[in-house]
Amino acid sequence: MEKRTEFLPYSRPYIDDDEIDVVVDVLRSGWWTRGAVTTEFEKRIAEYVGAKYALALSSCTAASHLALYCHGIGAGDEVITTPMTFCSTANTIVEVGATPVFADINCRTGLIDPEQIEAKITPRTKAIVPVHYAGQSCDMDAIEDIARRHGLVIIEDAAHALSTTYKGKRVGSSGNATCFSFYATKNISTAEGGMLTSDDADFIEHARIMSLHGMSKNAWSRYGKGGTWKYEVVASGYKYNTTDIASSLGLAQMNKLDEMQQIRGQYYKMYCDLLRDVDGVSLLEPVSYGQSSYHLCVLCLDTDKLSIDRDRFIELLTNEYNIGISVHFIPLPMHPFYIERFGENIDNYPQCKRMYESIISLPLYPSMKPEDVEYVAAAVREISTKYAK
Ligand SMILES: *Cc1c(COP(=O)(O)O)cnc(C)c1O
Repeated sequence: MEKRTEFLPYSRPYIDDDEIDVVVDVLRSGWWTRGAVTTEFEKRIAEYVGAKYALALSSCTAASHLALYCHGIGAGDEVITTPMTFCSTANTIVEVGATPVFADINCRTGLIDPEQIEAKITPRTKAIVPVHYAGQSCDMDAIEDIARRHGLVIIEDAAHALSTTYKGKRVGSSGNATCFSFYATKNISTAEGGMLTSDDADFIEHARIMSLHGMSKNAWSRYGKGGTWKYEVVASGYKYNTTDIASSLGLAQMNKLDEMQQIRGQYYKMYCDLLRDVDGVSLLEPVSYGQSSYHLCVLCLDTDKLSIDRDRFIELLTNEYNIGISVHFIPLPMHPFYIERFGENIDNYPQCKRMYESIISLPLYPSMKPEDVEYVAAAVREISTKYAK
């Protein structure tokens, strides 16, 4: 095959003049930080995912941190999560003073295994943080059942899961605290941003106060008409609010979410069709109980059938074929901090270890072209054929 000379980025935002216009409108309005546009963005997300309340924040990491904090999780507590996630999922557990406890995954889906969760419960366990990996929902009935029996809180990491469904309902509609990300590579982006959703009014109100210095109600609007210079600090809070500039981008992106999801789904299906008969590679196993948001296209190598390892496969894709890739994720028990502080060892998570050694995330985003998908699939086929055992 002919190799492209221009690099295909791993990800790129999907924008047109709408994003530019709404940002310019906010800039011209003179109200740049949190205000009416952010309130509208919160309503839009709450309605879309089916949650009663939504709180817009500076990141998903901020949402996770506030969710743990406002559930009273702290020193001496244990929180069970997956080793196959981004560092912020566990870093925020450490941030509130608790201990992250990892439960192994199913290596065909990358999702936390409910049986492994159950095995990790101790009298100190306070919460479970499931991650809807790559855009597929975790088995929430099984996880909710465990949480109910042991009196645990569930905080969902839905950074990959805007539009994901579980048994016909969107992730975010469970009533649990759920954390979404609008980082540059996510299904919608505000450059940086996050959203915390929940059906618990008091919890969201607490998180709202903690997200703005611990200042009491309505301090957001103290520089607007009808606002007041008087405010009270009721806790030592954080600075986690978002801006109307970011929220205007979020609203413009929400207007095209259906269209973007349609393209993601179409491209994912193209990858499935083009790679189905290629020996030595497969995609994640689809779950039976829900619809993916197609956040990631995770290629799994069957290294028994190939004469090269995953790292060499990546080198070829990037250096020879000019394709941007990523790996989701380097398991947390492999990072120096988790090894040194918590004595973690990847060998205790055989499914996670096995999956990590075989995965590559391929480009999957609505602003790429169908020819790009064909090119990436052809490159995977050519490498797999050339290095077949
Ligand atoms: C991106 C990501 C996050 C962090 O999101 P930010 O908005 O960058 O804080 C958390 N968890 C997972 C699984 C992610 O992929």
